[in-house]
Amino acid sequence: MLEVAGITTKYGAISALRDTSLTVGSGEVVGLIGPNGAGKTTLLGSVAGLLKPTGGTVTFDGADVTGAAPEKLLRAGLALVPEHRRIFVDLTVEENLKIGGITASKSDRAELLEEMADLFPVLRDKWTTQAGFLSGGEAQQLAIGRALMSKPRLLMMDEPSLGLAPVLVDVVFELIESLRAAGRTLLVVEQNASRMLEVADRAYVLRSGEMVAEGTGAELLERTDLFDTFVGG
Ligand code: ATP
Repeated sequence: MLEVAGITTKYGAISALRDTSLTVGSGEVVGLIGPNGAGKTTLLGSVAGLLKPTGGTVTFDGADVTGAAPEKLLRAGLALVPEHRRIFVDLTVEENLKIGGITASKSDRAELLEEMADLFPVLRDKWTTQAGFLSGGEAQQLAIGRALMSKPRLLMMDEPSLGLAPVLVDVVFELIESLRAAGRTLLVVEQNASRMLEVADRAYVLRSGEMVAEGTGAELLERTDLFDTFVGG
């Protein structure tokens, strides 16, 4: 479904990604792990159209989408839950979700809102609450719900468990499990490497802008050398 082939992405003269490749197949849950500053967010941004690679290609469903605008990619079925959530704090839960469904038809939107209320019972209870009053865990669920409102065929998440209390980290990983069980295709960046490897079909390890390892979650979990060196335990 997604093929990132040898991309280079720069900030000025500095290459944050160098000849980096990754694939995500339909129905797969793929993890992307690595230390701070490895380039994980840069990779998601390069796929989602927020950053333009200077080399290499991004192919989505067989079409070359390298450097395409984020809105075009969203309409093509590629959604990103950004780091730090970035929900609209002055708007209600329902309004945030409706914005996420802006690319859907009106009838689809109503159905999707119902689906989100079922998927996130905590949000159903706070439907008319301003998003700024949500807890960190609720806000993360809202950010994921907002992205799901675009009916993505590939959902990318950047550090969904970042800054959450342990019990809410569990909620996020349970949600990833349930999205996986529902056959969704996910590409997830996570600092919480061991948890991510437990739920991922496959994962990649990025360090200093280069892919240094790839394998199934089980294979990478056995690579203790890799954990100590690249992830930090
Ligand atoms: P983290 O887990 O800390 O978010 P990351 O793996 O997502 O790290 P990136 O945020 O992609 O890493 O950053 C990759 C490199 O690019 C880092 O060296 C970072 O300092 C640099 N970088 C990121 N954003 C910018 C920017 N806007 N301008 C200049 N350099 C940047």
